[in-house]
Amino acid sequence: MSEKTKNNSEKESRPAISFIEQIIIDDLKEGKNNGKIITRFPPEPNGYLHIGHAKAICLDFGMAEKYGGVCNLRFDDTNPEAEDVEYIDSIKEDIRWLGFDWGDREYYASDYFDRLYEFALDLIRRGLAYVDDQPAEVISEQRGTPNSQGIESPFRNRSVEENLDLFERMNRGEFDEGSRVLRAKIDMSSPNMLMRDPVIYRILKTPHHRTGTKWNVYPLYDFAHGQCDYFEGVTHSLCTLEFEVHRPLYDWFIDQLKTGEYRPRQIEFNRLNLTYTVMSKRKLLELVQGGYVSGWDDPRMPTLCGLRRRGYTPESIRKFIDLIGYTKFDAINDISLLEYAIREDLNLRAPRVFGVLDPVRVIITNYPENVTEEVELVNNPEDESMGTRKVPFSRELYIEREDFMETPPPKFFRLYPGNEVRLKGAYIIKCHDFKKNKATGEIEEIYCTYDPNTRSGGSSANRKTKTTLHWVSATHSINAEVRLYDRLFIHEDPMGQKERDFKEFLNPDSLKILKNCKLEPLLKNAKPLDKFQFQRVGYFCVDPASTELNLIFNRTVELKDTWNKIKK
Ligand code: ATP
Ligand code: MG
Repeated sequence: MSEKTKNNSEKESRPAISFIEQIIIDDLKEGKNNGKIITRFPPEPNGYLHIGHAKAICLDFGMAEKYGGVCNLRFDDTNPEAEDVEYIDSIKEDIRWLGFDWGDREYYASDYFDRLYEFALDLIRRGLAYVDDQPAEVISEQRGTPNSQGIESPFRNRSVEENLDLFERMNRGEFDEGSRVLRAKIDMSSPNMLMRDPVIYRILKTPHHRTGTKWNVYPLYDFAHGQCDYFEGVTHSLCTLEFEVHRPLYDWFIDQLKTGEYRPRQIEFNRLNLTYTVMSKRKLLELVQGGYVSGWDDPRMPTLCGLRRRGYTPESIRKFIDLIGYTKFDAINDISLLEYAIREDLNLRAPRVFGVLDPVRVIITNYPENVTEEVELVNNPEDESMGTRKVPFSRELYIEREDFMETPPPKFFRLYPGNEVRLKGAYIIKCHDFKKNKATGEIEEIYCTYDPNTRSGGSSANRKTKTTLHWVSATHSINAEVRLYDRLFIHEDPMGQKERDFKEFLNPDSLKILKNCKLEPLLKNAKPLDKFQFQRVGYFCVDPASTELNLIFNRTVELKDTWNKIKK
């Protein structure tokens, strides 16, 4: 890596201290929580993680790591209807892949079901919770609006004994789902709607993936989350801005629960949203179930497993998260910044190779038949330590179809009859003829001569041409399928279009499959997820389903500027 690149990349990846980090520093300085830092990452196992979650993960684990604390992984499994063990495994794999470790602190909200249930009984005994027999719609109606007070439920003043009896029978399974709920008795006239006697337990008869059929009542997320933080001794509970209005409610529960000084401190930050993307698990599930993508790990998905399969590295994702930072304002981040981050990362570490995506045959008519030369090429100009490789050169080659034109427009400096180009790492060739399919108009073969003195070490080695092309030797090349991905949506903000379904904005050209690509022979040894720069074309990654007999490459991202750089 050159000094210059190194300095730049270090500078770019060094974030300013976020307001959250400043709070943590100040808390430590004041000696709060005996100088301990405990954070948690609390996914609900109802889908695969997406890059938005990576923003929370980098903060939760990153702050704990940086300030000598620990970060718990806690699955918020309060809703047995939407949750699945498949999701738990994938979440763990993705967090590890990003480079974080929760040690043995893998927890589940369901670990605390007994304590939460006891706490609910305690609230009932203290006259702070009651069973409501009204249907959900009525409860919701009585809650009022932000500008008008709520109406108290006729069941609000039930006796403690009756509430205890009913709640215990709810849990024994004596009542139907939806027939009764347990509500906290707080304040039906609070300006904060969430404080208007929120539902804290509901009847659900679906078995739970961890507790089986033990429970017939389940706590609502709002009743579980803050208390779980408290049970675990979490000091800084970092979450996204939409939970800001929930904070008074969480505080109210902790006020009823806490015995000493300690309480978790909740701090909210802005969600990650990306242009041309949807970020909610529910919407992503809709794409998977509707067959709009091939699965959660489709390389067009913003899921971590999709990005991994696309060729993104954990480092690039972490760098992107550093670049966008944490604020108090919701915004939408430009997906091109994510593409920039992966390009920067792969530029430093992806070996350069030759791959011709849309091949046309070139025959060098003055080059001997049955001769193979080897030309030596640098693997990565950014990193000498990556060495060089030998690539076979022979009489028949493939070049990119778009690099030839029969009648070129002005400023076309690539191959055309009478013009010279350099084949990268090899000779200068000049086109003198071509063969065209009369029926289709397709160019079938291009005939050139080469100048033997123009190879490295030759007398005309330094002779310049306007353009340098990539190529592969036809007899030595291997076949591959290449999948070109583009943005999944054509609209910058597919979710923000009133009265239009986000799926209307799916990009019909987000996947293009090329079956007849020709690659340099070395690539037959490529392993799943190996990453390469196909010179002049883009960054590519071997698909996990790829085999030696059926090589599949996914395009991670286009190169953009490299074409100009090589042209110089
Ligand atoms: P989704 O809306 O996609 O279902 P969620 O917030 O319901 O997301 P959870 O599994 O509950 O998903 O999230 C776990 C943690 O990740 C939470 O602390 C949440 O705030 C955070 N998180 C989720 N989405 C984002 C995002 N887009 N940006 C930053 N943090 C996020
Ligand atoms: Mg959620």
